[in-house]
Amino acid sequence: MTLLDLPERFALRARSVITPNGEQAATVVVNGEKIEAVLAFDCYPDCTVVNVENVLMPALVDSHVHVNEPGRTDWEGFDTATHAAAAGGIATLVDMPLNCIPVTITAEALAAKLESVDNKLWVDTGYWGGATADNLEDLPELLESGVLGVKSFTIHSGIDEFQCVDEAQLKDAMRYLAKAGLPHLVHAELDRHEHNASQQTPPTIGRSYARFLQSRPRAWENDAIAMVIRVMRDLKAEGLEPRAHIVHLSSSDALPMIVAAREEGLLLTVETCPHYLTLWAEDIPDGATLYKCCPPIREDANRDLLWQALKDGHIDFIVSDHSPCTPQLKAMDSGDIGDAWGGISALQFGLSLIWSEGQQRGFTLTDLTRLMAQTPADIAGLGNFKGRIAAGYDADFLVFDTQAQQTVTADTIKHKHKISPYLGKTLTGVVTETWLRGRPIYQYDQYVGSARGRSLLRGAR
Ligand SMILES: [Zn+2]
Repeated sequence: MTLLDLPERFALRARSVITPNGEQAATVVVNGEKIEAVLAFDCYPDCTVVNVENVLMPALVDSHVHVNEPGRTDWEGFDTATHAAAAGGIATLVDMPLNCIPVTITAEALAAKLESVDNKLWVDTGYWGGATADNLEDLPELLESGVLGVKSFTIHSGIDEFQCVDEAQLKDAMRYLAKAGLPHLVHAELDRHEHNASQQTPPTIGRSYARFLQSRPRAWENDAIAMVIRVMRDLKAEGLEPRAHIVHLSSSDALPMIVAAREEGLLLTVETCPHYLTLWAEDIPDGATLYKCCPPIREDANRDLLWQALKDGHIDFIVSDHSPCTPQLKAMDSGDIGDAWGGISALQFGLSLIWSEGQQRGFTLTDLTRLMAQTPADIAGLGNFKGRIAAGYDADFLVFDTQAQQTVTADTIKHKHKISPYLGKTLTGVVTETWLRGRPIYQYDQYVGSARGRSLLRGAR
């Protein structure tokens, strides 16, 4: 019997299954698209049992992916991005409201995006909207249209039509989100230079990574996060319960402020990304534009503090911030870091990246499941059916060979442009299978079946 001939109801049995209660030997009964029950290893349910040799984990949930379709499919697209996700053990992703055209800041723009995904989704996909300086009036309708929440920038977004917000605009938008009970994601960098023309113009960055790093200092992140916290306090004083979420934290200096805000009772959550945890500034050669992202990858000592914050629970989860573009825009020829588009491409490698280093830092697969499946699902409002191996949840799995190694090459990359700062690096841990709602979609480097992914629209379930 091949797996495609699996009956409607069957069981997966493994010596190591990562459940919300930790790692255990278990038999997971699947009925249709759902997990029916998680039983003891030596239970014999009255159905076909498939033995799984490696670790059975819930498929990952990546709530920070820039797919860029419609409009910039020369950068990426739903077909290629969701293939890469499947190869990385991700069965659910949430797409960012930029850099597609139109940017997802109105209900009509979301409708255009939903039209573009037909027959292209290999994994289930949700969508963030955007809250910009010019779409406050459109927000109620956008929030009704099925987005899972919104994202704002406190600095130029890189895309002119996705305008950044000032403090007053952030507050006005977050008020809507708080009333709807939805998360407000914030790209938190505040360019004080932009608001103070009397300061000197910074030196040209050119090929220098050090000058790029200096050009986006920790203070920019710290100031923006302080602003988000002020806005949350103001809204709380109005009797609201805002839920703000800091995307891609890089500055460890902001952690004490974040911890204090949480202790004060503010519903502030924080994510970081594999590149801030596995790469460091001192190791980045000049001219290496593939490492450029905003906020930047900082010093090795900063990286240690981010890992510690994950361990302490002060950073809630890890997502890719996969943000690809064409090799031309990455200024590969000139190596001009100043000119290059900012964004890291590594959608499918997150689990192996974090496992390679995390296990040496004392992180278990149960920790990684919490950080890369469970909590991102919770923040995106998908936590009652995604991200856990438990009865009633979608039967989304990944099978992880914890010992196998892989070297990142152009041939192994599934996203559109075969470039990544990890090219040539060897990682420990290989996703051998990914399952979406009861059936495999990826096994041993082969895609199985067809594009069965669905759009996850709020209110549709
Ligand atoms: Zn991003």
